[in-house]
Amino acid sequence: MRKHIVAGNWKMNKDLSETKSLIADLKSQENKGDAEVIIAPTTINLHAAVSALEGSEIHCAAQNMHQQESGAYTGEISAAMLKAVGVNTVILGHSERRAYFHEDDALLAAKVKTALAHKMRVIFCFGEELEDRKAGNHFSVVEAQLKNALFELESDPWLQIVLAYEPVWAIGTGETASPEQAQEMHAFIRKTIASRYNQDLADQITILYGGSVKPANAKEIFSKADVDGGLIGGASLNANDFYAIVNAFA
Ligand code: PEP
Repeated sequence: MRKHIVAGNWKMNKDLSETKSLIADLKSQENKGDAEVIIAPTTINLHAAVSALEGSEIHCAAQNMHQQESGAYTGEISAAMLKAVGVNTVILGHSERRAYFHEDDALLAAKVKTALAHKMRVIFCFGEELEDRKAGNHFSVVEAQLKNALFELESDPWLQIVLAYEPVWAIGTGETASPEQAQEMHAFIRKTIASRYNQDLADQITILYGGSVKPANAKEIFSKADVDGGLIGGASLNANDFYAIVNAFA
């Protein structure tokens, strides 16, 4: 069976003391199901977060990293730096990185390659804009995003990849894809991977849904056959809400 994962993307929220306090709240919660729990605090708080999470089941991820190994890249963070503080998972390709920091498929392909070379796990985000969906282009947009960033990879590195389908129109808007829309796209994604690689590999890939997942809708979305968990923004900033979502797998 594929792994279930619920990951919280904290974005640019929570300073150091708030990070420690939210982690303390998260540690007091009970995971009643089988989902792996991941949180992604801001880069500056990752070191402290990893220490605070010691002894707990919760894993820590970075929200971004640079594709180069080291050097004159002011303000950037390398894969080795993340690993040195105990962070082995990185979110890449989030729609906010694509939109505000102009990260395109070619850059993301380079970042993925670097992360995989460092044996990191990648949570790779992608998804269509509202105009794409309205125009009926959502499947071709998603297929192109996958092909351009990931389909040069051999099969083996795919086992370090978690996909996060996030329709941009559903992120932070309160508008969620219906469980049927999520399932339809997740099944398409799995079929696309099976055509490029094989069904066995496609069946092993965890595909998360992201976009206004809340305690009230998580169970229904996660009940769909090809939805293996969620990437959660807003609702991951509150321990009760986040664990209500985690426990949708209970
Ligand atoms: C996200 O930022 O990845 C996300 C899904 O945000 P939200 O849950 O707030 O829509």
